[in-house]
Amino acid sequence: QSFGTPYPYEAPASQALFERASVVTPGGVNSPVRAFRAVGGTPRFMVSGTGPYLTDADGREYVDLVCSWGPMILGHAHPEVIAAVQDAVARGTSFGTPGQGEVELAEEIVDRIAPVEQVRLVSSGTEATMSAIRLARGFTGRAKVVKFAGCYHGHVDALLAAAGSGVATFALPDTPGVTGAQAGDTIVLPYNDLDAVRAAFAAHPGEIACVITEASPGNMGVVPPKPGFNKGLLELCRSNGALFVSDEVMTGFRVSKAGWYGFESANEGWSADVKPDLMTFGKVMGGGFPAAAFGGRADVMAHLAPAGPVYQAGTLSGNPVATAAGLAQLRACTDAVYATVDQVAAEVASLVSDSLAKEGVAHRLQTAGNMFSVFFTDQPVTNYDEARAQESFRFTAFFHAMLAQGVYLPPSAFESWFVSSAHDERALERIAAALPSAARAAA
Ligand code: PLP
Repeated sequence: QSFGTPYPYEAPASQALFERASVVTPGGVNSPVRAFRAVGGTPRFMVSGTGPYLTDADGREYVDLVCSWGPMILGHAHPEVIAAVQDAVARGTSFGTPGQGEVELAEEIVDRIAPVEQVRLVSSGTEATMSAIRLARGFTGRAKVVKFAGCYHGHVDALLAAAGSGVATFALPDTPGVTGAQAGDTIVLPYNDLDAVRAAFAAHPGEIACVITEASPGNMGVVPPKPGFNKGLLELCRSNGALFVSDEVMTGFRVSKAGWYGFESANEGWSADVKPDLMTFGKVMGGGFPAAAFGGRADVMAHLAPAGPVYQAGTLSGNPVATAAGLAQLRACTDAVYATVDQVAAEVASLVSDSLAKEGVAHRLQTAGNMFSVFFTDQPVTNYDEARAQESFRFTAFFHAMLAQGVYLPPSAFESWFVSSAHDERALERIAAALPSAARAAA
């Protein structure tokens, strides 16, 4: 038995590593949700990944439905990404000067995403959102920021209020270490509620610098925007002199070539062509390396140092190996790749939903393009309160049954699941084979 959970302990090498890690690292991990706290048991220490599979320290292979929390859209160790990295790494790992790869990656982003006229590269999604907020404040000369409960934008002090992801997993409304002053200019509103946004603008005239939202939230589980919600946000921002910041760290380059922006633009009924003032990116654009970005309107980006007065910098920003990996991954993400990822996601989602239905387990399978997750509730989930009302103990049982059969799910009921273009028939068959008993465990 591991750590007092009722689940059979089958990972002695991971267990040994976890014990060592717990001595030298808080909680034994370098990012909280990896620790299995929400579901119990021993986190698996992975040693390699190929295509749709991960192999742990005990030599067990898992079908990976986390894909590094989104980045690995081509699967693990994709040959084109690996070749680009090997080529870049042989030429040196960091120069602290401008380089050609940065220009090419920036051009790739600007070419794909119409609202992005200029872009600045950083090393994590957190840096991207933190910098976008600073720029929005610098540009508007205003202090307040509107965010939505359940949306996670990284561990930016001002945005760790009612955040999703790990914060949702641990049910922390806030975190010690963030001062009242740091969070005091953050207004947290319910997701998908335009009236609440309207009321906030009315209550704080001339004070709100920006509204930041996940383009389509995946950090409270998958909770897509209601049709017209992003458009409504944009219009409210416009009419109140605030900037609209769309966080596409998760959705960017994943749900389409142009991310959620492209998905909405292509799905007229949703809301056509909502052009954010600023956008943030990460995950897929780094090809598994630390590369992220924020960008948008040229007149806003012109306020950023050294062009303008708003300071932002990074020793490893635009790192040559990371940009090479990101460029190779983006260039390999053809229309055919997105079609495959969409198809795989739809298949996995329906397999999961069918198996739960067969066992009579109340659930909602929610999708946003090729992102999806399961809520153990019979009610639609449109915001954080509704997400938290699910019976997440059922997810725990489901998760462990899948894990025991070699399928690796996000270890929390409040996360999106991710697939890749490498998830082939064999991987799907393994998922299908694991589902019936997992659904029974959740019943
Ligand atoms: N924004 C969104 C929407 C995210 O999903 C995440 C990470 O999950 C972040 C920002 C933070 O990115 P990072 O973990 O690279 O700092």
